[in-house]
Amino acid sequence: MKLGIVGAGMVGSAAAFSCVQQGVASSIVMVDLDAARARAEAEDIAHAVPFAAPAHIMAGEYADLEGASVVILACGVSQKPGETRLQLLSRNAQVFADVVARVIRYAPDAILLVASNPVDIMTQVTQKLSGLPAGRVIGSGTILDTARFRWLLGQHLGIAPRSVHAYVLGEHGDSEVLGWSSARAGSVGLDSFAAQMRAPLTDSLRQRIDTGVRRAAYTIIEGKGATWYGIGAGLARIVAAIAQDEQTVLTVSTLSDVLDVPQVCCSLPRVVGRAGVSSELMPDLSEGERHDLAASARLLRDSYDALAI
Ligand code: ADP
Repeated sequence: MKLGIVGAGMVGSAAAFSCVQQGVASSIVMVDLDAARARAEAEDIAHAVPFAAPAHIMAGEYADLEGASVVILACGVSQKPGETRLQLLSRNAQVFADVVARVIRYAPDAILLVASNPVDIMTQVTQKLSGLPAGRVIGSGTILDTARFRWLLGQHLGIAPRSVHAYVLGEHGDSEVLGWSSARAGSVGLDSFAAQMRAPLTDSLRQRIDTGVRRAAYTIIEGKGATWYGIGAGLARIVAAIAQDEQTVLTVSTLSDVLDVPQVCCSLPRVVGRAGVSSELMPDLSEGERHDLAASARLLRDSYDALAI
């Protein structure tokens, strides 16, 4: 499977490294405006190949994306002093207008996997610019927030995060919704599991976990300036689901109607395989969670509309 990555910054490179470690792509091409950076990252990551599964990794031009099954879009510009969020978003939308056209020219059959932030809006921008069917433009969405939720719950319950089934829905950002009411550990409801493990989920503990998930990026950014390993692994997980046609349920962002909000990109559990997203699921939600998910989707749709593209 050939994977393209546009944007060889920290996120794009961490995704490439994770894909090499997990052996999910036989060929990886990294493209960046800064060609020297792309070459350096590709060479550094290539030196990990002898310790991992065989793969060919190189820096290249857009033309080298030909034949890619998936292209990760991890490029973008960062905020200038005094710039508003909307101005930044407009500049990133302009970057994407150029990048998406070039990617589609050389890799018309690829699934586009959007990682640039704000990821939900950039996913909607990419879908609009590319004109591809909704299921072929996937944003990493809350894949990482879901991982953080499972990790924190697993730590409290003393079990592996993989045995925790819990989703974070809506925006990848402040308005995201932790789906407590549908969460399970094994096949057991969360409260019952916690009671059996003698690790009750008190209100204050739920609050701590909520903050831990919602504020994780801020805490990491305070310490090291940005986050990249977790999202890199999450992107590799999505690439693997596509490459191996897994039909795995992952919380990713694609364009759909969400509750009463028409045509918005935000995260729900969705079935991911070779064709991209083939279907989506609405978990059982409490009234409060339903309200919060609708508010999160509304906020994203309003931000997208404000871009006026
Ligand atoms: P992140 O932490 O999200 O990875 P970075 O700033 O480290 O952010 O990486 C963003 C990358 O996107 C940079 O390497 C930058 O050169 C690249 N980039 C910016 N604009 C473009 C563009 N138009 N085409 C390709 N790459 C771009």
